[in-house]
Amino acid sequence: MTTRALPAAPNADQIAAHLQRQRAAFMAEGPVSAALRKDRLRRCVELLKHNSDRICEVISDDFGARHPVSTLMMDVQAPIEALKYAIKHVDQWMRPQRRAGLFPFNLFGARAELRYQPKGVVGIAGTWNGPLFMIFAPLAGVFAAGNRVMAKPSDLSPHTSEWLAEAVPQYFDPLEFSVVTGGLDVAQTFTRQAFDHLVFTGSTGVARQIMRDAADHLVPLTLELGGKSPTIVGRSADLDLTVEKIAMGRVQNGGQICVMPDTVYLPRERVDEFVDKFRALWLTLFPSVSGNPDITSVANDRHLQRLDAKIAEARAAGARIETLGQVDPSATDRRRPLHLVLNPPEQTGIAREEIFGPAMALVAYDDLSEVLDKVNAGERPLALYYFGRDRAEQEHVLGHTLSGGVCVNDVMLHVGLNDVPFGGVGASGMGVYNGPEGFAQFSHLRGVYHAGWWDPRRKLGLLPPYSNKLLKMMQATVRRA
Ligand code: NAD
Repeated sequence: MTTRALPAAPNADQIAAHLQRQRAAFMAEGPVSAALRKDRLRRCVELLKHNSDRICEVISDDFGARHPVSTLMMDVQAPIEALKYAIKHVDQWMRPQRRAGLFPFNLFGARAELRYQPKGVVGIAGTWNGPLFMIFAPLAGVFAAGNRVMAKPSDLSPHTSEWLAEAVPQYFDPLEFSVVTGGLDVAQTFTRQAFDHLVFTGSTGVARQIMRDAADHLVPLTLELGGKSPTIVGRSADLDLTVEKIAMGRVQNGGQICVMPDTVYLPRERVDEFVDKFRALWLTLFPSVSGNPDITSVANDRHLQRLDAKIAEARAAGARIETLGQVDPSATDRRRPLHLVLNPPEQTGIAREEIFGPAMALVAYDDLSEVLDKVNAGERPLALYYFGRDRAEQEHVLGHTLSGGVCVNDVMLHVGLNDVPFGGVGASGMGVYNGPEGFAQFSHLRGVYHAGWWDPRRKLGLLPPYSNKLLKMMQATVRRA
């Protein structure tokens, strides 16, 4: 029998006191060996591996319905891959680096190095859409960097949160890794703590408040946010392949993923062909909707109402809507067909806001420059996708847009690149996890100067009282610079 690190829904004092205890343990520990870092990472792998059946149950309970394949892919195997990648590379990542020395001191044995030191206790606040991925993917870098962690899973994933709070103490000392559970009030208290670093995953709107709160203690932030990820289909694209790749992305998690293709820009003359091909493929993947175990539900009634309202608004504003499947009127689940919303007017929610659910906007264009202008006029996206065989156009799109990450002739797969940093830019976030850059993000990059065997300053006349000769020498140096 194990005990939780903190009671359910702890108050502000309890959270702050626990953070202090974790920080004191961190300070008392001194350098964190590679062996201990790997051991912590391995224990995370074991926790996910040994409990995978239970994880599938609790996540499905939180969603209303989610197929175990989806959960095993997204919330078990994907974080396991990130953790194992960190285990494999942490020795190399944490090695101090020799850096260029300081002239003329380097002539007398002085040298410089860069050390990666753990920051202390890192807070990780997750979302409901990938409730364990959003905790354990950043955790790979956090533990690899030698930190301790306090995690707050989403209040919209109560079953997963409760399970995690009970499971973690079976693998970790509560001063290494603790879990905080509770509602929105606890989430607010949690993100206001004086962490040594805070990783927040969520929407851009809430992130603004997180950043204001973090300012009180100058807490460094990694913000993993969302937004509309544009998918640009060039005239040189193979439409069958494009449809297949976009559909392969769209099948996941009922469309509730931050890097989901949100708006597809299509050459005007190919829109109907795209819709026909997409519908034909989609209906083979999902021949029914209500009760279909392969479809992940919209996570809760509030999100369902939000989506229904957006679709109704687009319809009322004149957008053509293709609904790929039908809801059984007697069904009580929240599984929904995918809606293709064609050319939603600019003022509608579908056109302006992240959709995050079973709907995708299709926008016709005549000239690619219109698309780039539109994308660049909006907030910087988390992901951008380009389809086309025209290499010059590919480079043009890459060179004239900015997004967190990009896939060329595919969607979403860049998130699985454990050796490549993942993160947003501008309104889609700041900071990264994954790979050496993620490790560096959760480390303090400490410059260390080692003095040499002799200091030439006195001999060179560089000390006060300053001579005229030294002044002339300095002036000549500046002129030559
Ligand atoms: P949200 O911003 O509404 O909530 C995120 C979390 O923050 C929740 O757990 C919530 O309890 C908490 N929260 C809400 N208000 C808070 C406050 N004032 N102070 C502290 N905490 C607060 O987002 P959501 O609906 O849970 O998730 C969907 C959003 O997350 C989408 O925008 C999606 O794109 C984004 N997302 C991004 C990534 C990524 O890796 N970049 C991954 C998943 C989701």
